[in-house]
Amino acid sequence: MVNYIRKNMNISLIGKKCTGCLVCVKICRFAAIKIVNSDEGFLYPLVDDGACSGCGKCIKYCPECSVSVVKYPIQQYAARVVDGNSTIMSTSGGAFFILAKYIIEKHGGYVCGAAFDYNNFEVKHIIIDDIKQISKLQGSKYVQSNIYYCFDKILNLLKNNRYVLFTGTPCQVAAVKNYCRGFLDYLYTVDIICHGVPSPENFKNNISRYVNNKKIRNIRFRHRTRHEASSYSYYIEYEDNSSIIVYPERDVYYSAFLLGYSVRESCYSCKYARRDRVGDITLGDCNDRRQYVSIEKGFVLSDILLNTEKGLKMWECVRDKMYYVKLDYEKESIMNRQLSTPTERPSLRDEYYIDCKVMTYPLLLKKYGLSIKGVYKIKNIIKRHTSNKARKCIEQIWLFLKNAI
Ligand SMILES: Cc1cc2nc3c(=O)[nH]c(=O)nc-3n(C[C@H](O)[C@H](O)[C@H](O)COP(=O)(O)OP(=O)(O)OC[C@H]3O[C@@H](n4cnc5c(N)ncnc54)[C@H](O)[C@@H]3O)c2cc1C
Ligand code: SF4
Ligand code: SF4
Ligand code: SF4
Repeated sequence: MVNYIRKNMNISLIGKKCTGCLVCVKICRFAAIKIVNSDEGFLYPLVDDGACSGCGKCIKYCPECSVSVVKYPIQQYAARVVDGNSTIMSTSGGAFFILAKYIIEKHGGYVCGAAFDYNNFEVKHIIIDDIKQISKLQGSKYVQSNIYYCFDKILNLLKNNRYVLFTGTPCQVAAVKNYCRGFLDYLYTVDIICHGVPSPENFKNNISRYVNNKKIRNIRFRHRTRHEASSYSYYIEYEDNSSIIVYPERDVYYSAFLLGYSVRESCYSCKYARRDRVGDITLGDCNDRRQYVSIEKGFVLSDILLNTEKGLKMWECVRDKMYYVKLDYEKESIMNRQLSTPTERPSLRDEYYIDCKVMTYPLLLKKYGLSIKGVYKIKNIIKRHTSNKARKCIEQIWLFLKNAI
């Protein structure tokens, strides 16, 4: 682990609570903070004591050292877009697409969100102003995204009274709001309900296993199949039009993410894993979607939480593009655990990143892979390979047999 504890009165004090937002690096006038890679492959700030004046500005802007304003949602909905085509690339109900389109079309604005860089297998935030590019930002990328290069661009746009929609993890939203303080009138923020982020280096090492001397042009973590509206599986598409689907139980990285072995240390004590939210709007995957049969109809639903007046105003302008019903927020907060508590730190967490360096892939899979056995294995096979209609038939037969026995 990098030794980033050096001196009082600067962000060295923060230790493992650092979320890696990199605001401090941007804000330091003395260029006393550089970015370093930890042994686990996460980015951390490192202060050069010789160059630091002790002005304390990095602490004032660090969202983890200061109090972030969070609000209990004014309204809460379960929703999905009316036009299903626009959500093919989305993870849940496609609310992000509708909001991004609105900011660009109605306000000539800009949208900042996470996109893949397929040349380097990295995820970075980029800024777009064309609806044709929204697809680059759609879909959850289960790896930490780098927002460093967007701070100045966003601030300049806001200073010129241009609308900006920033979307990201709650800690990133807090960072952008801190950096742009004093110029927030035209900034709209969407935070996602967040389970945590694994390290960029861990992702890069794992995905390189699937290159096979071909160029990858598309990766989706939540693949939509003919039978599943949004499955937890990798879809990897190559430039030669071939593609593969990798299920989490066969992939160490995906398993480790789902089981919580690989997320950043700060994620286990995340102060945003709660019902009060930091963005104007919060989006998530509705875990209790079966309760909302009137709009569910085999689709995945988004949780949409409207937290501020700005969020409410944006919603008023886009809600006719969505099917929506009131969300039972208390129940959802229990089912969707990151609305009430951070991801639990597994006892094997400390070993995971060390083992990744020394163990063979089959052994890693044995130790950290999702183990799907018995009834769950059968359920998974049915889920992945049969249509909704066929699944309902199987469910009925199963119930009939159970009652008959
Ligand atoms: C790492 C991670 C963990 C998540 N954990 C949960 C969870 O525990 N519970 C839950 O309900 N929902 C979780 N989500 C959110 C969920 O998967 C959807 O992103 C959300 O519901 C929005 O869906 P959508 O269909 O409206 O838009 P989509 O098109 O799916 O979402 C795209 C938006 O997500 C942002 N995004 C994608 N990847 C990243 C990233 N790596 N870092 C920052 N922003 C990113 C993009 O900027 C874009 O704005 C998580 C998302 C991520 C990225
Ligand atoms: S205290 Fe001031 S000079 Fe030192 S690292 Fe922080 S911002 Fe830079
Ligand atoms: S949380 Fe962000 S601002 Fe605070 S120390 Fe870490 S990188 Fe710097
Ligand atoms: S779990 Fe919390 S600290 Fe970790 S990425 Fe998400 S919002 Fe940031």
